[in-house]
Amino acid sequence: MPQRIVIVGAGEAGARAALALRENGYSGAIALVGEEVHLPYERPPLSKAALIDGDAPKPATILSEERLAENGIDHIAGAPALAIDRAGHRIVLEDRDPLPYDRLLIATGARARRLAVPGAGPDNIHYLRSFGEAQALRRRLQPGSRLVVIGGGFIGLELAAAARARGAEATVIEMAPRLLGRAVPAELAALVAARHAAEGVGIVTGAAIERIDALPDGRHRVMLAGRDPVDGDTIVAGVGALPETTLAAESGLALDNGIAVDAHLATSDPDIFAAGDCCSFPHALYGGRRLRLEAWRNAQDHGNAAAKSMLGLGEPYAAVPWFWSDHYDLTLQIAGLPDEGAETVTRPLAGDARLDFHLAGDGRLVGASAVGPNGAIAREVRLAEMLIGRCARPDPASLADPAVKLKSLMV
Ligand SMILES: Cc1cc2nc3c(=O)[nH]c(=O)nc-3n(C[C@H](O)[C@H](O)[C@H](O)COP(=O)(O)OP(=O)(O)OC[C@H]3O[C@@H](n4cnc5c(N)ncnc54)[C@H](O)[C@@H]3O)c2cc1C
Repeated sequence: MPQRIVIVGAGEAGARAALALRENGYSGAIALVGEEVHLPYERPPLSKAALIDGDAPKPATILSEERLAENGIDHIAGAPALAIDRAGHRIVLEDRDPLPYDRLLIATGARARRLAVPGAGPDNIHYLRSFGEAQALRRRLQPGSRLVVIGGGFIGLELAAAARARGAEATVIEMAPRLLGRAVPAELAALVAARHAAEGVGIVTGAAIERIDALPDGRHRVMLAGRDPVDGDTIVAGVGALPETTLAAESGLALDNGIAVDAHLATSDPDIFAAGDCCSFPHALYGGRRLRLEAWRNAQDHGNAAAKSMLGLGEPYAAVPWFWSDHYDLTLQIAGLPDEGAETVTRPLAGDARLDFHLAGDGRLVGASAVGPNGAIAREVRLAEMLIGRCARPDPASLADPAVKLKSLMV
């Protein structure tokens, strides 16, 4: 058993791993190191409730002071880790003594990709990854103000919905021909886009940004190639995230679209593990295809799995990928990997909801995607997820027929 475990990154995966170490009987020292000053908190509300609800939002804490104390977790906040001294088995922290470790977990998450167009800089472009950034945006989403969102992915669209809920105008500018192009099948993305349009969000797709100009009144103008410019009081870029790999790269760990880990979440150094948004891992359900997921449940599952692996109890990681996103009263959920599918079968659900099954060429169910009110889709997507995990090859006609219970298709 290791005596000292250090976790760098006090976010979803890191906090979950710290708890899971105790749940799995570990009694040695745990240090949970975070560069942020807050207790570990949830990020999904940052683009939803934290922008809309209440007067003085607080972070949605994952681990309270009491819970940290009860579990003997030493949370070292406001302490960026600067380097990993692999030979000396120590973590170098800013303004503090180095921390020795027997096992190290890197759970440093991801950071927002910066917008690289002329005129874009730290003074005029907002990003959304941290609680502090959410607060800054919230102050700017006032009734009648105008938000321009660059990037029509999940975070950009959730921001547009939050702006509308606050009485602000919103326009989304997307470079690709359609919204949600990276992860959502076209038919479902079109339903989400239609709902945003109905809520009054301006949507400009296939748009190339030439530059961003400052206007004399303090607002900004987004200049588009061959299109009308779009003016806004606030410009936010949601143009993807990059895995936070600085520590791993500088200490010579193998990288491959993030920190490269094996099925036990071990890096190329057997005493160092990685979990969550920062790492890519092979997935047995998809023929060992290397995935890097930016998803809440994956970060939790990775935290649990890495804790076990660090204690020598681990099994190969095989959880079915799962993601959700909220827009107004609509929820979108995706299980598995729709892009592995060759054929799509649609099952209509109650309440105008829709569930698409994605089947590989050999008939195996590899993904499911659904949109509708949460109550109408959550249970069905959960069952689809179980079918995916069991490598089921369900009969397409049964999948399409809402009268056939998905449970009856379990193998
Ligand atoms: C605005 C927003 C909305 C989201 N909404 C959804 C959603 O609706 N559904 C969904 O499934 N997922 C959603 N996600 C994704 C989900 O929140 C992430 O996948 C999850 O937080 C990843 O957990 P993590 O622990 O890997 O990284 P994080 O939660 O990002 O935590 C990493 C932590 O490490 C810290 N850190 C980094 N470097 C260092 C260092 N050198 N030293 C010390 N600390 C360091 C960071 O400050 C951060 O606190 C959302 C994410 C964001 C940003």
